[in-house]
Amino acid sequence: MLEKSDSIIARLIKEEIKRERETINLIASENYVSKNVLSAVGSILTNKYAEGYPGRRYYDGCENIDEIESVAIRRALRLFKAEHANVQPHAGSQANMAVYLSVLKPGDVILGMDLASGGHLTHGTKINFSGTIFKPFYYGVNRETEQLDYDEIFEIAQRTKPRMIICGASAYPRLIDFKRFYEMAKNVGAYLCADIAHIAGLIVAGLHPSPVAYAEFVTGTTHKTLRGPRGGFILCKREFAQLIDKAVFPGIQGGPLMHVIAGKAVAFKEAMGRKFRLYQKNVVSNCSFMAKGFVEMGYRLVSGGTDNHLLLLDLRNKKITGDVAQKVLGSVGITVNKNVIPFDPLPPNIASGIRIGTAAITTRGMGKTEIKKILEFIDEALSASDKISELRHIKKRVKRFASQFPIYAE
Ligand code: PLP
Repeated sequence: MLEKSDSIIARLIKEEIKRERETINLIASENYVSKNVLSAVGSILTNKYAEGYPGRRYYDGCENIDEIESVAIRRALRLFKAEHANVQPHAGSQANMAVYLSVLKPGDVILGMDLASGGHLTHGTKINFSGTIFKPFYYGVNRETEQLDYDEIFEIAQRTKPRMIICGASAYPRLIDFKRFYEMAKNVGAYLCADIAHIAGLIVAGLHPSPVAYAEFVTGTTHKTLRGPRGGFILCKREFAQLIDKAVFPGIQGGPLMHVIAGKAVAFKEAMGRKFRLYQKNVVSNCSFMAKGFVEMGYRLVSGGTDNHLLLLDLRNKKITGDVAQKVLGSVGITVNKNVIPFDPLPPNIASGIRIGTAAITTRGMGKTEIKKILEFIDEALSASDKISELRHIKKRVKRFASQFPIYAE
């Protein structure tokens, strides 16, 4: 028993269970997995080395491992209607790295969404491998609409002539027109990589258009809306299958995490069911309900609304920074993250906004009634940001409220 052999780690896991149970998680990139996913990830599969791919391993004893990875691949292909899948990337960042290294050379031009407008570090940021190995250019959102402006992106693509265009985002509340991206990529002779890390679950449920028919490469994470274990995956056209597999192993990774791949397989199966589709519908409807609630309370939403699982609040009219809001909400047990807003006058470590997502609370079974309550908690806490005793009182109410809901997906 862990309690006996390592009381420190056992205690900290218990503390984390308590934290997850007693707080309201509005971090847009997080979720709660099912007990079945947990049991796969916590299994003895972690013992096994399996460098290579099913039927082509560098280690012996892979007969069960081969089947597990093959099942995961088959399920990924069925789920996303893709031609080839690689389920080995340890995380979304590795999935992106493998895609870039599969067809690009150091110094090649890439065009990705600016971090400050909602893109991800791995889309060409200067402090990330993607911005140091390659030559990055960026597109953002339109200043007026705060949404992607495809004509403007096309103009940037024509000017910068990228070898690869990367679309997809970490903090963009609107639908992404993958077909438009594909057309402009073809027009300028670039590959298209669609990063669906955030919206994979919505895509599977048919609530967001899929890039699979268009993009040569699709990357994603299994742990956000897809509600699987922490990990990444790549989908690609058949003609790039070998290049992608080689880029993942031996290109950038060693042995695959087979316990996690088993967890991915379990999550893929769960994502095929009707219950999952209903869950995703609720994630989206909860998010738009929450967005309306914020607007009614006088908050400004970046882009004026949301089409997906997340929203961005611009807190400038509330005279509070994203950093302070994150700390205040954290102090009452509501977890959010500060986020820059487009054309933010403040630096990223302070930021003018916060990002809020509904994937995690929806897994816990929360709906409109609970969201009304959460909106009340948030507004009260932000209005009482320097009143310690009021914040303490809100924290107690948040704890009582949140503790009623399970922290496992059904
Ligand atoms: N791509 C996007 C759009 C993301 O939002 C993220 C993570 O937040 C990633 C890639 C990277 O995923 P990971 O943290 O698993 O490396």
